[in-house]
Amino acid sequence: MESNKAILDKVRVYGLQESKEAYVIRDFLKRSVVAFDWIPVANMDNLRAQFKQIIPEYANLPLVELPDGSLLFNPTVEAIAFNLGWITKPKHTEYDVSIFGAGPAGLSAAVYAASEGLSTVLVEREAIGGQAGTSSRIENYLGFPNGITGSELAERARQQAVKFGAEILLIRKGIQAQFINNKLHVDLNDGSKIIAKANISATGITYSRLGLPDEDKYLDLGIYYGAGSSEAILCTNEHVFIVGGGNSAGQAALNFCKHARKVTIIIRGADLSATLSYYLLNRILKKKNIEVLYNSNITALSGDGILKEITVTNSITQTASSYATKFVFVCIGGKPNTEWAKNTAIVRDDAGYLVTGNDLYKQPFLSRWKNDFTPAFLETSVPGCFAAGDVRHNSIKRVASAVGEGAMAVTFVYRYLSEKY
Ligand SMILES: Cc1cc2nc3c(=O)[nH]c(=O)nc-3n(C[C@H](O)[C@H](O)[C@H](O)COP(=O)(O)OP(=O)(O)OC[C@H]3O[C@@H](n4cnc5c(N)ncnc54)[C@H](O)[C@@H]3O)c2cc1C
Repeated sequence: MESNKAILDKVRVYGLQESKEAYVIRDFLKRSVVAFDWIPVANMDNLRAQFKQIIPEYANLPLVELPDGSLLFNPTVEAIAFNLGWITKPKHTEYDVSIFGAGPAGLSAAVYAASEGLSTVLVEREAIGGQAGTSSRIENYLGFPNGITGSELAERARQQAVKFGAEILLIRKGIQAQFINNKLHVDLNDGSKIIAKANISATGITYSRLGLPDEDKYLDLGIYYGAGSSEAILCTNEHVFIVGGGNSAGQAALNFCKHARKVTIIIRGADLSATLSYYLLNRILKKKNIEVLYNSNITALSGDGILKEITVTNSITQTASSYATKFVFVCIGGKPNTEWAKNTAIVRDDAGYLVTGNDLYKQPFLSRWKNDFTPAFLETSVPGCFAAGDVRHNSIKRVASAVGEGAMAVTFVYRYLSEKY
């Protein structure tokens, strides 16, 4: 490694083995399907010895070496994307449809909108793929009997959207929306503005985290957010832990107990009945291989590359117990990404999900909007503004349903545009 100017076939990431900053970079590159080599180093001096004539005194790890030989020290993912040439300005001032969020719903909407000839811009604040992009294997998506990694599914969809002419703006975030003369004007966090005749919000949700120091390290390597039925078969004969006491946690426990040796539900409270539907509670209490740890929290994770052991602390007795496990499913809910909608006329439910279609006629939503048009199934309380995927009130949190809603939303956009313009 004499020179940093060599043309490389891959990005190289150098950093301390346990560095969180390096993890964030690797995660971004992995989710963006960028080929890279990860080279752990002991410290900056060690690395400087290899790059001595180039690394300035102030430089910090991690170091990213781009294929053209340029070096980025402790860069943000924005800086990496910029230097890879991914950050571009919007090509047009106005589009037929703007789509926010490039998870399965937004990508699907982009494919269908662009393929039907609509001028389409897709804006994504992080990496393509959304939550699905973080999944190591999606086993229940139609047409992939052996499963597919979330990042590969997302990359295929990205290529399809680009092929049909959709414009994709990465590392951009819609921060504020306004409706002027029936058009949506969105301010992006980089100061640019996008105007569109119709809009699809596919901004999804962000799962709540446990808040443990090593949580990111074991993401998808023992710690999983949500608990789809596809994962259950992977846990055959294992001891599985589920964190959370809501219905999604309860359903997951019943699902996992068919395959796992034992399922342990960990809840903060003293009682499941406060958070769990009666029918689920009844069934759970009858299952011999499901146990519940009340008043409990996971307080530590450990392993070597993959999760091997968790520590659970009882908040009343303060006793800590260790359990060997490779599977912890975190079902403590999430928050929809709808901050941008808070000052608009779009009706959200109490948790922040966007309310669409017939749900708008139910209370308390009915009294929160003008009720001066008949919204289509995926239309919000603002005409021409649609929602698809997890961000929608009452949505089904699955890749297939997000993809279906993205495609369906485009049909409604098409109808809206032909009636309006
Ligand atoms: C680890 C994991 C594994 C999963 N495994 C499965 C599985 O095996 N099978 C299955 O069916 N489901 C699975 N799911 C659920 C599935 O991934 C989601 O239901 C699906 O991704 C929802 O798609 P979406 O497009 O609605 O939202 P998301 O995937 O949440 O995507 C939303 C996107 O919007 C972006 N965004 C948010 N705010 C803004 C903004 N203001 N401006 C621009 N962009 C914004 C986000 O960065 C994100 O990329 C899994 C979920 C997780 C977390």
